[in-house]
Order: sequence, then C-alpha cells, then structure tokens
Amino acid sequence: MDCKTLTLFNFLSTFISIAELIIHPSNEVNLLDSKASQGELGWISSPSHGWEEISGVDEHYTPIRTFQVCNVMEYSQNNWLRTNWIPRNSAQKIYVELKFTLRDCNSIPMVLTCKETFNLHYLETDEDQGSMFREHQFSKIDTIAADESFTQMDLGDRILKLNTEVREVGPMTKKGFHLAFQDVGACVALVSVRVYFKKCPFTVRNLAMFPDTVPTDSQSLVEVRGSCVNHSREEDPPKMYCSTEGEWLVPIGKCLCNIGYEERGFACQACRPGFYKASSGNVECSKCPPHSYTHLEGAVHCDCEKNYFRAEEDPVSMACSRPPSAPRNVISAINETSVILDWSWPADSGGRKDVTFNVVCKRCWPGPRQCEPCLGAVRFLPRATGLTNTTVTVVDLLAHTNYTFEIEAQNRVSSQAPTVRQYAAVTITTNQAAPSAVTVIRKDRTSRNSISLSWMEPERPNGIILDYEVKYYEKQEQETSYTILRSKGTNVTLNGLKPDTTYLLQIRARTAAGYGSSSHKFDFETSPDSFSISSENSQVVLIAVSSAVAIILLTVVLYIVISRFCRYSKSKHPDEKRLPFGNGHLRLPGIKTYVDPHTYEDPSQAVHEFAKELEASCIAIDKVVGAGEFGEVCSGRLKLPSKKEICVAIKTLKAGYTEKQRRDFLSEASIMGQFDHPNIIRLEGVVTRSKPVMIVTEYMENGSLDGFLRKHDAQFTVIQLVGMLRGIASGMKYLSDMGYVHRDLAARNILVNSNLVCKVSDFGLSRVLEDDPEAAYTTRGGKIPIRWTAPEAIAYRKFTSASDVWSYGIVLWEVMSYGERPYWEMSNQDVIKAVDEGYRLPPPMECPATLYQLMLDCWQKDRNNRPKFEQIVSILDKLIRNPSSLKITASTASRPVNLLLDRTSTDITSCHTMGDWLESARTLPCKDAFSGVSYSSCNTLAKTSAEDFKKVGVMIAGPQKKIVSSLTTLEMHSKNGPVPV
Ligand code: AMP
Repeated sequence: MDCKTLTLFNFLSTFISIAELIIHPSNEVNLLDSKASQGELGWISSPSHGWEEISGVDEHYTPIRTFQVCNVMEYSQNNWLRTNWIPRNSAQKIYVELKFTLRDCNSIPMVLTCKETFNLHYLETDEDQGSMFREHQFSKIDTIAADESFTQMDLGDRILKLNTEVREVGPMTKKGFHLAFQDVGACVALVSVRVYFKKCPFTVRNLAMFPDTVPTDSQSLVEVRGSCVNHSREEDPPKMYCSTEGEWLVPIGKCLCNIGYEERGFACQACRPGFYKASSGNVECSKCPPHSYTHLEGAVHCDCEKNYFRAEEDPVSMACSRPPSAPRNVISAINETSVILDWSWPADSGGRKDVTFNVVCKRCWPGPRQCEPCLGAVRFLPRATGLTNTTVTVVDLLAHTNYTFEIEAQNRVSSQAPTVRQYAAVTITTNQAAPSAVTVIRKDRTSRNSISLSWMEPERPNGIILDYEVKYYEKQEQETSYTILRSKGTNVTLNGLKPDTTYLLQIRARTAAGYGSSSHKFDFETSPDSFSISSENSQVVLIAVSSAVAIILLTVVLYIVISRFCRYSKSKHPDEKRLPFGNGHLRLPGIKTYVDPHTYEDPSQAVHEFAKELEASCIAIDKVVGAGEFGEVCSGRLKLPSKKEICVAIKTLKAGYTEKQRRDFLSEASIMGQFDHPNIIRLEGVVTRSKPVMIVTEYMENGSLDGFLRKHDAQFTVIQLVGMLRGIASGMKYLSDMGYVHRDLAARNILVNSNLVCKVSDFGLSRVLEDDPEAAYTTRGGKIPIRWTAPEAIAYRKFTSASDVWSYGIVLWEVMSYGERPYWEMSNQDVIKAVDEGYRLPPPMECPATLYQLMLDCWQKDRNNRPKFEQIVSILDKLIRNPSSLKITASTASRPVNLLLDRTSTDITSCHTMGDWLESARTLPCKDAFSGVSYSSCNTLAKTSAEDFKKVGVMIAGPQKKIVSSLTTLEMHSKNGPVPV
C-alpha cells in the first residue's frame, strides 16, 4: 500500500464520524463549500505533484471532493493549493472553516521532513485571477495546526480525529478573493473547506418583520427598522440591532393586530366565524356574546339575533338584550283625589338592569274607549316618566272621576323594538274631596269703613263651589273676636270697619264635600280718617288751602322763569346749545360685565342662566303691596329647603299675557340676577315652570323712596339722608363698573328697607318705555322720564353712566326735598327748554351747600365734567365723616349763579310789597291766606319760619318749601337785581 492509497483510506474512514459537517447555523451564508461540489473543484495545485484532488463519499455516501498532500519522504516541501475566485458579496468579514486530518509525524517511520502544520493565505482581487498564480501576492492568514493528529494505531482502529479550525479574514474591500493552502512537508488531508460570512437572518419579533441584515462594520451594531406584519399596525416603531456576530439584539417597539385579527404564529390572522375582536391589540378574538352571531371571518363585532338589540352605549362585549315585559301586580291606594300606584318588577327585564317605568294617566267616562289624556293639572310624584322605583303618587286628580293608569316598563333598547306597547293598566275612581285653598286675593277698594275684595276660584274646586266663607278680624284682636261672611261669588265688601285699622282675613271655599282649607292670612288696612273727604276736620281744609297757595305761587314763579328763558334763548350763542358727546365713564378692568339678555337668541335661556328657578310651593303670598306694569306686587315668604324662611316681594305676571310680555317681564330677572351688591335689589329667583310666572326679590319694608320720604317729611337728620344717598351712589357705581346704564334712576325706583338701606331697582328692558308713568314721548319718538334725564339723552338718546349721574343729581334733590317733584308742575317741554338754557333746580330748603354743589356738578351740561359715581361715593363718605361740613346750608351760603329760579323775570324786582307780588303772581287765594299777617316786604316773608306758616294755616312742608324757595329768590333779586346771564 503506497502512501497516497494509505491517506485516501484514512480520509474515507474519517467520514464515519463527521456527520455534523453539513449542519451550520442559519446566520451563516456560504460563499464556498467544497462539499457541495459534485465534480472536480478545479483548484490550482502548484507544483502539480503537491496537493492532489481526490473523490470520495461522506457518511451518507454522497460524493465529495477532498485534497491531500503527504510528501514526507522528500526535503523542502512548498506545495500550494489555490481555490477558485470567491466573490465577497456584501460581506466585510469572512470566515474560513477548515476540516482536516493530520498524521502524527512520530507515527511515520523513516520520515525526512515531517511537519504537523500548514499555512492559510488569501489574495483580495476585484476579478478572478484564472490560472495565474503568484505565491508572493498572497498574504498569510495563519498557520494551521492540528489539535489532534492520528497514528498508525488509529488507522487500525479506524478512529481518525477530524480537526476543525475557523479563521476570520477582513474587513475585505475588493470584490472577491482567492484562498491558498501552503504545505511545507506535512501529511494532511483537507476534507472540506467552507467560506462564509455571518448575517442577522430575517426574523419576526413583536409582530414586526426584520429583513436579512449583513453587519456592515466590524465594530458597531446596525440599527434596523422593522415593518409590521400584514393586518397589524405600529404601536411603537419596532427596531432591533444586528451585531457583528449575526445576532439580533435589543428589540424595541411593537405592532398590534388590527381589529378583527389576532396574533397566531408570528402573524395576525382573521378571527374565525363566531368570534370577534373589537379593539386592536395582541389579545385573542372573543366568542360572540349571548344572543349575537357572526358568520364571517375577521368580525369586529357580532350582530344581534332577531328581536334582540344593543343600546348605543352598550359595549360590543355585552349580550344583546330586548325590551322588558310589562310590569305586574299593579295595585292602587286612593286617598280623596290622590292615588298611590304600586307594581312589581317585570317578569322579564330583557337581560338588562336599566329598566324604568312610565305612567300614562287617562281620564275615563263610562262606555267603551271613552278615555282621553289627563290634563296638565295632574301631578306625579316624583314624576311620570323615567321612574326607577316601582311606585308613584298621583295628586291633584278631580274628585269622583274615573282614571286609567297605564304603566309601561322600558329599558334602553325599547326604542329599537317594534312599537307594540307592553303595559299594565289599573282603573280607579277618586273619592269626594274638598276644594283647594284660595290663593289670590285682591283689594279692590278701600275706604275708612269698608274694604272691597275679590279673589280667584281655587285652582282645584273638586266640585261645584256652593259658597265662600270670609272670616276677618282686627289684627290687634288676635282672633279673639271675628266676623264671618258668606259669599256666593268671588267678591265681597266688608262694611262697618274701623278707620286706619289693619284687618286679617281668610277665605275658604265650600263644596258638597265640605270646606276646603283656608287661604293664608291676608292683611288689609282701612283708610285713615284724614283721607276722608267727608271729614269735617279743619286741619285738612287748611292743608288744602296752603297747597293751593303754594301751587299758585309756583305758577307765578314759573311764568317769570319761562319768559326769561325765551329771551335768553334768543341771545344765546349756538355753540352753547350743542350737547357734549363721549362717555365720561370708562369700564374698570377685572370687574364682571353686564350681559344684555337681548343678546341671547332665546331670552328664556338668559333667565335660566342668571336666575334660580324656584318651586311655587316654597312661596307663600301674604298681601298685595303695589302694582307693577305686568301685574300685582305682593309681599310674602320664601322657604327654601334647609334655609331660613325670608320675607320676599313677589312680582306676578297677570293672566292672559302675550309671549312678548312674558319675555319683557322676565328680562328684569335676567338683569337683576347678574348683580350682587348691597345697594342693588337682590333677586331670589323666578317661577317660570308653573303659573303665575313670578319674580321673587328681597322684601323692602319701606317701599319706594319717594313715597317713603313724603310720608316722613322732615323727620330725618341730614346725616341719615346722606347715608341713604351714599347707598344709592354706591349701587350706581357698581352698575356703572359693570357697564350697565340704568336710564331711569329716580327716587320712585329706589326701594328702602326697614334699616333705611336704599337699593336701586327697576331693571326691566321695557321699563323706560312702558313701566314708568313719568316717561313721556320725546320729539325723536323715544319715551323718556324727562325730569330725571340728562339733556344729551333727551336730545339724541345718548344714555351713559354720565347721564345716570345727571339722574342721580335729581334723586339727590328729591331726597333733600323729601320727595318733592322735580320742577314741580312745569310742563316737560318747559323743563327741557329751561335746562337746555342753563337753568337748574334751586337748593331744597335747608340743603347743605356741599350737597347742592354736588347736584350742580351732576347737572353739568358737558357730561365729561360731571363727577363719576366713584367720586360721588367718596364725596359723600367725606361728608359723613365730617358732619360739620353739612352745617352751611345752600340758602344761607352764597348761591351759585345758575339756579333755575335765579333767572326769574325782572318783574320780580318790581315787586316791592307782598301784596304786589302775590297780585302779580295771580295768587289771590293765597294772598287771602296771608292777609291777616303784616309782611311788609319780600325780605320779611323770605325769612318766614315753618312755625309762621303754620300760624297762617300753611301746614304741609312742600308748599312751605316752595314759598320759601321762591321768596329767597325774591329776596336776592330785591337786593341785587337780576343775575346777569
Ligand atoms: P315696580 O314693578 O318695581 O314698579 O313695583 C311696583 C311697586 O311695588 C313699587 O313701587 C313698590 O311699592 C312695590 N315693590 C316693588 N318691589 C318691592 C320690594 N322688593 N319690596 C317691597 N315693595 C316692592
């Protein structure tokens, strides 16, 4: 056996133990595998007698090609074996795996140059070198030594050790390379040569696909973006890193299966029929819930079976449901005209918990199908629809009447079901019942000894009213003795009453069922003696006479004034007549702004935004205290749950109103509800959901300021009056800060409470037009309370806070003159003219000069020169802190030049005696009144005290003041002559 035969034998026998050769990790990509070649490999052997290519079979008897060399019997061996050209593809780093056997030199007898290693070389080129082979061009990769070599003995045992060595080459830059094996005298057999590079193989991680990736650089990781598998979407962008070892590292982000798809085997697959998936996410498809199905793949929800439904807000995971069956076992308990209905839960709630009940009321007459829906008066407690409990109380039914109640159960899918109503019905007959209480009583006429009243039939008569019982007694008597009258109609006159006495009165109605409950106690006053025309009281005569004197005197004065006005207006420069423009009041930042209810498309929305809706049952009406534009104003009480009962004023909207009237009436509440200030009348709430419609405000015991002052003429200290004025100014400052212009500020629109606190009221949108009896039509068509309104507002409707300041000046005058009428009996036209020409009201009697100066400032023609309300408040505060400043009265101080009455006719200057003056004033009746008193001059009369007036029979303050005002003027004229214009 020669050497070559020996080695071949050796090689073949080794295949028995090298089955692992063909298995390699999937992240390796072969560039060359000698075992895969069926035919000759065609590698170049140099010299030709060196390496020898030999065919063999592996353990599966698959033919393979191997190379061997074993020239151990000769010196100086240098045998090269060069591979074919191997293209590099994209790889930078190449691995060379060699499997070989090597003979132990010691086991070969008589060897000369035996080595136990060989060398591995490579040559990078861009193209195949073909048959050209130059040894020196190659670079050495490494010397390859065998871990284990075999001996003769191993051959005998047929156990040959296969060596496997792997070497890395790179980074490579050229397109390909040749490998070469250099033998320098070993006995070696190359069983296989595999050249490969590593890659990160295609993979699916977190439902994202990552493609085959070859590491580009031997140092760093390659970041790879994954793409979501079909039927999935990115949740977080999926990413991984490919290492130089061909391993995927650090998976980040993920994809989620779409709705209707679930994750199965690294893919998103459609839900099977009978299953659904409504949300994206890597959860499994769910089985269709009860009473639902799907025959399709990839369902996102299941459809409901016939006669089963899903409510809009039901989740798709919820079973389909159906309407409930009818309620069961309805029972009724009748109590006069109310009934309590009770029933059991339906046998089938349709698979839902949200069952509610609706109760329909029908009034029935004997005979088939003689029923019709109950009218609105019937009330359900707590309500008729959407009941969650199985009981309801129905009240305010008619007595002796048949009713049928249909009780229907519903759940949230009822509206989707066919319209067959499922209900349980019960029929009842109400019992006899007494009438309800009389609630509205009106005082029609009052005299000293009688009161005429009328009232409205009770809301629920519950039968024919036979008569009314009217019970009354003196308030002081505390019901110890009382009188009862019966009336068939709804009015009565109580005669034989005491004058100036308060009576309490209650009314109740009677039907065949008996008396109804009594009304609240209403109190009414008879007129005082002094009001009776038939009275013989001489004092009253004196009052009448003195009033007449005053009026006549005034007429004279006005006559003079007006004639002066006419002359003056002719001479006046046209510029002086021009009215100033521009609003002197700026809005303050940070303060709430008034919202005009007109800006709401639906005015009732404004009411509900700014006013609280009150239950009519919380309000008790006591008596009528006034008449408003839209109906009576009553006093009463408001008791809100868990609050103390309070006194309130209740404005009612009279029956038969139009929609516009209702809107206008409620607009006052929409405005008032926006304010919150101690000097603005406070709104408690409104009643709009039942009739009568009401506006409820705090109660102001002393009513309107003008009437209150007239009633208490000369009874307050100046400080008390200034305190009231300060309150009004403070309320007005608040309104102007909110951007609200009142337009009708006047004492009649100020209310006074029991602590003398004054509050601004009257805010209706229509008030200036309709409500105010003082309002008159101007030439421009608007209706304006002329005496209280600034000239620019009259002339061209320039209403601003500055025009409110003008009105405030008039209120100041009204207060200081205890409710005197501004400009007395002058006509509106004359007032406009006089004011326009610069004349102003004179100071009221005993008016402090400072306050009169404030009035004049408020009446500055140029509205920019008028004080702001803020300044007025601070002026009044200073006066209150320093009362001595109020001691100098305007009449004793030097008078400003522009007083209304300072501009009277020069005729006054020609009045030298009292008789002349009275004569010229055509005040003869008045002259008579003075005839018994020797007043020698106007001077003396001007100094007349209130006591003196009383002596001659001028009893009331108003005329006294007028006379004094006029005469003070007279005095001035007689001293100084007319004041120049
Ligand atoms: P009005 O509709 O504001 O003009 O009110 C008519 C009358 O009812 C007033 O002149 C007052 O006498 C009376 N009045 C209005 N509101 C109240 C109230 N809050 N407190 C007391 N009386 C009031």
